[in-house]
Amino acid sequence: MTFTYEQRQAPKPKVGIYGFTGCAGDQLLIIHTEKEILNLFGSVDIKSFVMASSNPVEGELDVAFVEGSVSTEEEREHLLEIRKRAKILVAMGNCAVSGGPQAMYTGDGKFASRLKKVYGDVQFITEPLEAKPLDAFVDIDYYLPGCPISAPQTFALISRLIHGATPEPYPHPVCHECKLNETPCLLLEKKFCLGPLVAGGCGAVCPEHGLPCVGCWGPNEDANFASHVELLESFGITKKDIMRRIHNFGGHKILKHIENL
Ligand code: SF4
Ligand code: SF4
Repeated sequence: MTFTYEQRQAPKPKVGIYGFTGCAGDQLLIIHTEKEILNLFGSVDIKSFVMASSNPVEGELDVAFVEGSVSTEEEREHLLEIRKRAKILVAMGNCAVSGGPQAMYTGDGKFASRLKKVYGDVQFITEPLEAKPLDAFVDIDYYLPGCPISAPQTFALISRLIHGATPEPYPHPVCHECKLNETPCLLLEKKFCLGPLVAGGCGAVCPEHGLPCVGCWGPNEDANFASHVELLESFGITKKDIMRRIHNFGGHKILKHIENL
């Protein structure tokens, strides 16, 4: 969904920025941009920004950005309520897009026993839920992956929404950015790099520093998962280890790509 010509002639788009379960790093990144955020405040009408303002105005929104996964009943209800008020809903950051580290065991059938082991018989003020990405509960219009999100991608998406253009996801995996950086491929050293399976946009910062990609931007949906798993297995890495590493950051969502290989 994008804004029509008439909508663009109207007053500034009303924007809300919300945070659920996560480290709040995506909201922090927006605040830290300093230069861009001044342009943002000049271009849109910020109605709610959990980290920046304690006076939210909870009315109709043109765009809602939601960070974090849903891990309580209170968050689930708030998300449904935001969805009703917002014309466009953007899942912002890896926890919102893929579930994040807190969703690494989601779907294994052991949530109740894990909860009991950690919290015992504590009375919760809101019912705990197994952590899930936003699209487990509501329809999402656009995804902004990243851990945290990147400022260029975020402001490009906001700019496109404001100007009535359709935002497009970064179309390449992390490996593409390695090539642009002229970083020698770590697979040549038989290192456990997940780059081909992971959505690009981070600038391939880890391989640039000699560290294998562990997948914090979530899955590259077009990846050849079977081929890369086969390659890593040829290095002596087990499928179990591959799955464990990939879902540490990617959450359980990424496992659907490899669990049935
Ligand atoms: S180092 Fe990793 S991310 Fe970079 S090209 Fe090789 S496999 Fe891809
Ligand atoms: S782990 Fe991979 S996706 Fe995450 S910042 Fe490093 S290179 Fe990028």
